[in-house]
Amino acid sequence: MASTEHARSYEQLEYDTPLYRTAIAQFDQAVPYAQVDDGIAERLRHPERSIIVACPIKLDDGRRVVLPGYRVQHSSVLGPTKGGVRFDPEVTLGECAALAVWMTWKCALLRLPYGGAKGGVRCEPRAMSRGELERLTRRFTSELLPFIGPQEDIPAPDMATNEQTMAWMMDTYSMQRGHAVPEIVTGKPIAVGGSVFRHEATGAGVVMIVARACERMGWKLAEQRCVVQGFGNVGGIAAQELVDRGATVVAVSDVSGGVYDPDGLDIPTLSAFAIEHGSLEAWQTGTRITNEELLELECDILVLAAREDQVRADNASRLNCRLVAEGANGPTSLEADEILRERGIPILPDILTNAGGVTVSYFEWVQDLGRLFWGRDEIRAKLAEKLNDAFDRVWEISHERGIPMRTAALVGGIRDVSSALEARGLYP
Ligand code: GLU
Repeated sequence: MASTEHARSYEQLEYDTPLYRTAIAQFDQAVPYAQVDDGIAERLRHPERSIIVACPIKLDDGRRVVLPGYRVQHSSVLGPTKGGVRFDPEVTLGECAALAVWMTWKCALLRLPYGGAKGGVRCEPRAMSRGELERLTRRFTSELLPFIGPQEDIPAPDMATNEQTMAWMMDTYSMQRGHAVPEIVTGKPIAVGGSVFRHEATGAGVVMIVARACERMGWKLAEQRCVVQGFGNVGGIAAQELVDRGATVVAVSDVSGGVYDPDGLDIPTLSAFAIEHGSLEAWQTGTRITNEELLELECDILVLAAREDQVRADNASRLNCRLVAEGANGPTSLEADEILRERGIPILPDILTNAGGVTVSYFEWVQDLGRLFWGRDEIRAKLAEKLNDAFDRVWEISHERGIPMRTAALVGGIRDVSSALEARGLYP
């Protein structure tokens, strides 16, 4: 068979979806700058393992439903695979595969000894009771038992999953093993081996990267007007951290829409309200706007912390900011990347900007394995050190090569993964 025939045999695989193609197109843009052997680049275009499971659960009214669950493990060359688990109606194998690919570059860029994974269950978490969510989490974990482990694949929270979800996963896994295995997941409650500062890490990391970028660009963060899309664990914390550093947050939004006040929002009050009511839907004060309007508000820094595919060809030309910071994974489409580049609006890319979460996940795993726990200040300082180091490498590659920061971040990640693959060689 000719090699082109081999290549064709990969098309139309189950994960071959628009988001996966975006991840691969970004990879292809970076490969020429990363000096990767063709065979190695081809290997990295395909996840090592893609798992689909069926999760039957009993609903509170006695009915049974079967929900599809997924886990994609992209690369185990540098260590166990690592990545979140999301509960969302839009979860597909292709989405998990794209997110797993991004996790590989993210972990490598941060120099964490992991490859990328991502998983989830296609469901409507907001319509589910706590009991239903617990039964789903436990059944999903049971279905994945042969494929996960502290040295194989370590799940963590992602959209609509949290510390409680991780505690149920840890318990389900530990009951099978007959002893507590805290290192099977990260993002757990502190009571069961979680790390201090993991909860805040992604949002705080976003602002550490924004602050470093401002420093390099000669901007004063305290003078910036910011808009934050997404008010969950990433956007909510990022908004608070921005305010703590003196910046003004003029708008935030969640699935129910946005709140805008040109004089600046009271973030602690809004956060307390969102936690108490589950969303901002019933919030009455200030001007209510849609998520689309929020993206087009005039501001200095736009933080995208909701979900993928928010800035696209149809709205990128209407963005009215000077800098985009990606707190979510994949919020900017390929076409939008190009439009923003032409407009001279730099993007702080997801695999750098939201890497605070997985970095403190790594600290959590190390603490669990060593059964020795560190303090908040130590973790915050270690996180800042890692993020600043990664930012500086990306900034340097970007300026040396004259390429956008996204491509530069990918080059940083891809180079490390491919040299490990090269050194290990092909088995058997
Ligand atoms: N889900 C988060 C991410 O996309 C965190 C993953 C982790 O901590 O392993 O980076």
